[in-house]
Amino acid sequence: MARIERLVILGGGTAGWMTATALSKTLGPTVAIDLLESDAIGTVGVGEATIPTIHWFNDLIGLDEAEFVRATKASFKLGIEFVDWARPGHRYFHPFGRYGVDFGHVPFHQCWLKGASDGGTAPLSAFSLATQLAAANRFAKPSSDPGSILSTLGYAYHFDASLYAAHLRGLAEASGVVRHEGQLGLVERDPATGFVTALTTDRGKRLAGDLFIDCSGFRSVLIGDELGAKFEDWSHWLPCDRAVAVPCVRAAETTPFTRSTVRSAGWQWRIPLQHRTGNGYVYSSSFISDDEAVATLLANLDGEALAEPRQLRFKAGFRRETWVKNVVAIGLSSGFLEPLESTSIHLIQSGIAKLIALFPNSDCDPALARQFNDLFGRDMDDIKDFLILHYHATKGHTAPLWEYTRTMTLPDSLIEKEAQYRRSGRLMLSSDALFREASWLAVLNGQGIVAADHSPIADTLDAAANRHQLDQLAAIIARAAPTLPKHDAVIAALIGRAVA
Ligand SMILES: Cc1cc2nc3c(=O)[nH]c(=O)nc-3n(C[C@H](O)[C@H](O)[C@H](O)COP(=O)(O)OP(=O)(O)OC[C@H]3O[C@@H](n4cnc5c(N)ncnc54)[C@H](O)[C@@H]3O)c2cc1C
Repeated sequence: MARIERLVILGGGTAGWMTATALSKTLGPTVAIDLLESDAIGTVGVGEATIPTIHWFNDLIGLDEAEFVRATKASFKLGIEFVDWARPGHRYFHPFGRYGVDFGHVPFHQCWLKGASDGGTAPLSAFSLATQLAAANRFAKPSSDPGSILSTLGYAYHFDASLYAAHLRGLAEASGVVRHEGQLGLVERDPATGFVTALTTDRGKRLAGDLFIDCSGFRSVLIGDELGAKFEDWSHWLPCDRAVAVPCVRAAETTPFTRSTVRSAGWQWRIPLQHRTGNGYVYSSSFISDDEAVATLLANLDGEALAEPRQLRFKAGFRRETWVKNVVAIGLSSGFLEPLESTSIHLIQSGIAKLIALFPNSDCDPALARQFNDLFGRDMDDIKDFLILHYHATKGHTAPLWEYTRTMTLPDSLIEKEAQYRRSGRLMLSSDALFREASWLAVLNGQGIVAADHSPIADTLDAAANRHQLDQLAAIIARAAPTLPKHDAVIAALIGRAVA
């Protein structure tokens, strides 16, 4: 069977350049890669917070961390602080990495639940070094020594989205990707197979290919308009459909975490970078006007706004068929889940990883597409449930959006997960779910959902010994946190100059 020789990417946003960089690194000179993008159309230009899976991508493309942090004005991220979500006046932290350590064969969270039922133990946050570091604006990288408490850490980055795409573009072009400027004019298809054979630009350039990657953003030009892949609408569960974004002057200290604060018709993000702070209000247009949303955002900044607010529109949902014939959609063209848990860039990577694993011959065996679509669909379904949990498990918010999300009908899969945790303290997750036990525990516990029991396996531990171990663990974390460096000092040491 003939191998793929020419690959064409439509779109040069974060998805287009991540795909171009990863595929050129992986495939080498055996496959020629063309990328078509339009300066006139532009990119979404937001997407500044990531999760730890970003390290997989950075390793794949051989990214030098210092060069990357310098080029994209990045800061480190230990997790997300959720303000007012569980109820007004409350805050909790969803950390990366792990809580505590397992006690022998008993998972940590079961030891903690047992400790709580045997007369009480410290709050969950006391068992997360990442949470303690974030609270003190400190940062450290994970240790590979399993005996060190630092091994429980995990981290990701905040970066400037446009600088990131530009940085990747430099890397991709250096490894042979050819960029073409212009808007898509014509899509040529093989009348017998329906495969796309070439894209012609409005400037008359013809880009022939064996495989086409649709990175055209929300426009979904190839997978949606041309191939007709249907959009599954999830806005009844995730009703936010707009955002307004604005950067402001940076705070005195760069915090190593994203903050998400509840507002009347949605929530506001705060993402600290070296040179500025990114802010945005994600809201539902059914419950607030654009003007009110802008006014709310501008009234809740750390300091002076540095640009005019930018409006963005979207709809929660995705296409169950993200690979059709010889077109694979990666990025916003495949679907979108709002940025509450910073998952979009992860989903781009996840699409790239699946495409590499299932890389086809020129016949694009439909079985590969089915597998890709099935795996991608599972990713989306799992993440969707996790996001809905945040909106649903709230108290004390009387604004109509929050009344709606608190009482809406939930997906069966989430009802089962939540009910099982309430009943038995068990976290029923599939083995390939992105958000693991620590993340579900952070949000369930953070949003006030209490487990009535723990696993019988935890009862194999002596109650007093278990509580003693928990006390010791919390003490180790409390002692370690103040000895670790300030976040700004870690960035300055890495990039070889002081943070502005
Ligand atoms: C409000 C908001 C906040 C977000 N925050 C985060 C976050 O914190 N973390 C995170 O991981 N993700 C976040 N995201 C998602 C993230 O921004 C996107 O996943 C990421 O930018 C990828 O976008 P894209 O490349 O798919 O699309 P785009 O950036 O829209 O790029 C589309 C590309 O296609 C080209 N194009 C389109 N049509 C044509 C045509 N006809 N001819 C030629 N070229 C064409 C455009 O020129 C452009 O180059 C956020 C998204 C939104 C909306």
